[in-house]
Amino acid sequence: MTMDLLIPDKVHDETRQGEALILEPVGKQNGRKLYIESYGCAMNFSDSEIVASILAEKGFETTSDFNNADVIFINTCSIRENAEVRVRNRLKEFAGAKFRNPGMVVGVLGCMAERLKAKFLEEEKLVDVVVGPDAYRDLPNLIEQVDGGQRAVNVLLSREETYADISPVRLNSNGINAFVSIMRGCDNMCSFCVVPFTRGRERSRDAHSVVAECKDLFDKGYREVTLLGQNVDSYKWSGQLAEGAEPLAVGDEITVVNFANLLEMVALVSPDLRVRFSTSHPKDITDEVLHTIAQYENICNYIHLPVQSGNSRILDIMNRTYDRDWYINRIDAIRRIIPGCAISTDVITGFCTETDEEHNDTVSMMDYVKYDFAYMFKYSERPGTLAAKRYADDIPEEIKQKRLAQIVAKQQEYSFYRMQARIGKVEKVLIEGFSKKSDKDYCGRSDQNAMVIFPVSENYKPGQYVNVLVERTTSATLIGTIVE
Ligand code: SF4
Repeated sequence: MTMDLLIPDKVHDETRQGEALILEPVGKQNGRKLYIESYGCAMNFSDSEIVASILAEKGFETTSDFNNADVIFINTCSIRENAEVRVRNRLKEFAGAKFRNPGMVVGVLGCMAERLKAKFLEEEKLVDVVVGPDAYRDLPNLIEQVDGGQRAVNVLLSREETYADISPVRLNSNGINAFVSIMRGCDNMCSFCVVPFTRGRERSRDAHSVVAECKDLFDKGYREVTLLGQNVDSYKWSGQLAEGAEPLAVGDEITVVNFANLLEMVALVSPDLRVRFSTSHPKDITDEVLHTIAQYENICNYIHLPVQSGNSRILDIMNRTYDRDWYINRIDAIRRIIPGCAISTDVITGFCTETDEEHNDTVSMMDYVKYDFAYMFKYSERPGTLAAKRYADDIPEEIKQKRLAQIVAKQQEYSFYRMQARIGKVEKVLIEGFSKKSDKDYCGRSDQNAMVIFPVSENYKPGQYVNVLVERTTSATLIGTIVE
């Protein structure tokens, strides 16, 4: 996964504007105000909720206006060049606020912080503290160091850290759907990807703490959880039942909990709790996982399965560890075991040495799968990755752009085709709130993760499920009316 985690209708979206996050302080207020902004994938947004919780414990309250802040954090993404350019530009916008409040602490968190480490302090004079994704527990101490007049860095990666004992503070939440991280890091070494270097080795979170968090969310009225991981299919946790913890709902004899087991455990929290997950990896997604999805109505029939390329030689130099035939085998298994399952993907065009014929293999893969949705990017060489060390970024920009335009047009065709096929169907929709365009309409997503818009009804409110008859569509939205 290029950490392809589901942010409602966006993944890995460095185009997404940073979002200021609001939280209520938990501990004794220390009167200091925190402003936190997140970029990139859902894992980063989920991490910001962990950061918020750690600082709320220390009595920080928040502000959505960075000019009023005592501490400003940017949780950064490093997946492509322009993600980092955006962060540097954003930092410049904080200069005035810091000039007016010299005691202000400005910090960078996340993948760009981990990639650049102390170099960030040399390159960006405004920055006081640089903290990697595994070092957030150290934040209160690092802020104290800066208060003491020093600049601070902690970019130690961990083989154990999962923040399992920290209950995230839900930020900008609609109180209905929430992210639950189940693992951190990645052991795959896709040659184009920085994630293994910025998020470290893979480690799975204690299954009990995942189920407990989902139960707690359900009790608080949430009706959907998205289980997050760079590669959820390699989730594997083995551990003793914690003192006083409830026995595992499923087969206490299980000593090693794999992803299929964890999915089942979360699905059994309540049939009214919808379960989504991201991201899957073609080499590890098992039929056991697919049968578990098919067995539970509340595990959504939607899978994000990044292909990256449709050509086996390119997949090989991308070090994706599967080839075209294997990927097609997985797609056929999904179609066989979960008929009607929606599938989305990630595609990189213009990877090193990619020929026109090899690019056409990606196009023909899209013709074969007819994805519901896809995230498509031009190859962006990332410093320190295997590809940067081994291969020249030799595809001319105009060729990359031409290939990207071709697959974007192709995908728009298939997204519309998939949406059109829903007309006349009745979708079970979880109401998430009012549509962005009009408060006369509700919005919510179908089981297949399509956004559905329908007139508000006084009989229903956000957090409830309704059946909606689809009457028409756009390429991204289903439009209909509630049917009893
Ligand atoms: S190394 Fe591969 S699997 Fe891991 S996060 Fe990057 S793209 Fe995803």
